[in-house]
Amino acid sequence: MVIVMNPNATGEQIKKIIVRVHKAGLKTHIVEGEFRTIIGIIGDKKAIMALAVEALEGVEKTVPISSDYKLVSSDFQPKPSVIDVDGIKIGGGSLVVMGGPCAVESREQLLEAAKIVKAGGAQFLRGGAYKPRTSPYAFQGLEEEGLTYLAEARAATGLKIVTEVTDVAAVDLVASYADMLQIGARNMQNFHLLRAVGRSGKPVLLKRGLSATIAEWLHAAEYIVNEGNYNVVLCERGIRTYEEYTRNTLDLSAVGALKHLSHLPVIVDPSHGTGKWRLVRPMSMAAVAAGADGLMIEVHPNPAEALSDGPQSLNPDNYLALMQDVQKLAEFLRAEVK
Ligand code: PEP
Ligand code: MN
Repeated sequence: MVIVMNPNATGEQIKKIIVRVHKAGLKTHIVEGEFRTIIGIIGDKKAIMALAVEALEGVEKTVPISSDYKLVSSDFQPKPSVIDVDGIKIGGGSLVVMGGPCAVESREQLLEAAKIVKAGGAQFLRGGAYKPRTSPYAFQGLEEEGLTYLAEARAATGLKIVTEVTDVAAVDLVASYADMLQIGARNMQNFHLLRAVGRSGKPVLLKRGLSATIAEWLHAAEYIVNEGNYNVVLCERGIRTYEEYTRNTLDLSAVGALKHLSHLPVIVDPSHGTGKWRLVRPMSMAAVAAGADGLMIEVHPNPAEALSDGPQSLNPDNYLALMQDVQKLAEFLRAEVK
């Protein structure tokens, strides 16, 4: 349930309610809005009803949350969240781009990719140091060595770093290098990992599972937020369907659905969503038009030589052209379509 406080509610009244909720053994999540405070109560339904908070001073109304995911729902917080990643805002009308290779392959490859990504105007450099590969014989990533190259690329370009963490044991290490932790599709329902990144305090990019429903995805986000970490961004990256021409089927309707169901920002990854570099431009444009808060794009200085995901990676020229197009489209939408 959500308690919406009166705009004039005093700090004392708010505190009284929180104490009452905690005494009943229930958890609170407080959202300080511009005009009013919202108190989310999580726990047993009967215990919540027994609190009879509606009658307490300072309470304007209570709103039941019918879904099992609560903290991430738009019932809990109607206003879209803006996630601040070390000064870069995701959500709230801007278009954020995360570009870079699938994997960090070498110092030279990554620094070259970072230069290109920066030149196109993206805000984040992506690149996996820990790669969850389908085959155990495929390149598995440079691990900590790769993280040091990401940090060096940040120092050289000013780009923020988003990189995947695949294992609870590596969360602290990856968090010590990255600005944002990525949870990949294969780990979307690794609940221990979700809790661990929730506790890390770092912003999290949560990719949609390979065949996850939107509700399952939001439940996964709830695990992170339930640890007190509200800085979660969702990333649609395509789902498994019967179609084989594309690697996945990019579900752009998820953008609109999530905007309705949740306050969390949503970005789209047309690279993994299609598996084909030729489809990255049209699907990027469609994602921006659909209202996505950003894009994740795989870019490689030389896709033909890439150790992973070369066929879906943009070469520098195609990436730079794409950035011009999406920026023009985003400006047009901001100016002409409200
Ligand atoms: C990636 O972003 O490199 C990646 C492995 O993506 P996904 O988890 O969406 O497959
Ligand atoms: Mn990839």
